[in-house]
Amino acid sequence: MSTQFATRLPPLPPGATARPALSVVVPAYNEEEVLPAFHARLVPVMEGIGLPWEVVYVNDGSRDGTLGVMLGLRAADARVSLVNLSRNFGKEIALTAGLDHAAADQAVVVIDADLQDPPEVIPDLVAAWRQGFDVAYARRRAREGETWLKKTTAAGFYRVMQRIGGKVDLPADTGDFRLMSRRALDALLALREQHRFMKGLFAWVGFPSIPVLYDRAPRAAGESKWNYWRLWNLSLEGITAFTVGPLKVATYLGLLTALAALIYGVVLIIRTILFGNPVAGYPSLMAVVLFLGGVQLMTLGIIGEYLGRIFNETKRRPLYIVERHIPSETDQRQPMS
Ligand code: UDP
Ligand code: MG
Repeated sequence: MSTQFATRLPPLPPGATARPALSVVVPAYNEEEVLPAFHARLVPVMEGIGLPWEVVYVNDGSRDGTLGVMLGLRAADARVSLVNLSRNFGKEIALTAGLDHAAADQAVVVIDADLQDPPEVIPDLVAAWRQGFDVAYARRRAREGETWLKKTTAAGFYRVMQRIGGKVDLPADTGDFRLMSRRALDALLALREQHRFMKGLFAWVGFPSIPVLYDRAPRAAGESKWNYWRLWNLSLEGITAFTVGPLKVATYLGLLTALAALIYGVVLIIRTILFGNPVAGYPSLMAVVLFLGGVQLMTLGIIGEYLGRIFNETKRRPLYIVERHIPSETDQRQPMS
């Protein structure tokens, strides 16, 4: 744009920036069906807050028309910022990409695209932040439309994490839906590990935090990308990223079996001395060999899990590749006529 005919903007008041105050970060993978509905519900909510804002849509290598939908939203609404990743990197990394590209200078909100996190809760998060909390995380009151098995496994996972997580306190019934102040976000973005268990990273950062209760709705459309294999892997990620507890378990299990084997050996020796050994102890031999073999394999597996993660970290690859980034028009001043 040539400067002579460009729309003139009023000068900024001293100390003010042209950046939005709030960024809403939305990772999306195959969400063409819900995105327009999501945006339609988000806009009035954000406008009601009364601060300049933008929404950062991250297309995580969707196989459907999600990118086209996002481009359409960007064309219709300049407050949309678009980050298109070069392929599917998974939700945790897509979220990180969105947070990296959030322009807000005051706070960011993280929310799912599938309307399971109701945008109407955002003003409550903002209210909590205005009270002086750096992190306001939405806590589910009820889990509608989710199976009994998923609820139970999720509850079990949080309990295990709480037990072995050490100093880092993982709040239960909490997803990624939350608001973070700029300084909490900057702290979070300083953590660049490849294996990103976001719930754990959020908790690790700390800062004054407060839960905000809400009801989690069933997915509006499309289907959940989670299955039990993915959930299992997420749990492994969470556990191995935040505690070396399993390595200790392996050590103690080894010690315990060694001790048991020692006692059993002594018993065998005494028995042989006292009563002789008329029959070769094939069953007991097999039992011991198989048991020890199993324990050793499991221990090796645990060490392997950690070793693999060390290997991945040492490669120091970027977390994601951006195919295209269209920033929002962050300058929220009204042009002068
Ligand atoms: N998502 C993503 N990349 C993926 C999988 C999911 O960006 O590889 C997004 C998805 O579009 C949604 C959010 O992450 O906005 C949560 O995904 P989903 O609803 O499938 O998870 P659930 O709500 O079942 O935990
Ligand atoms: Mg969902």
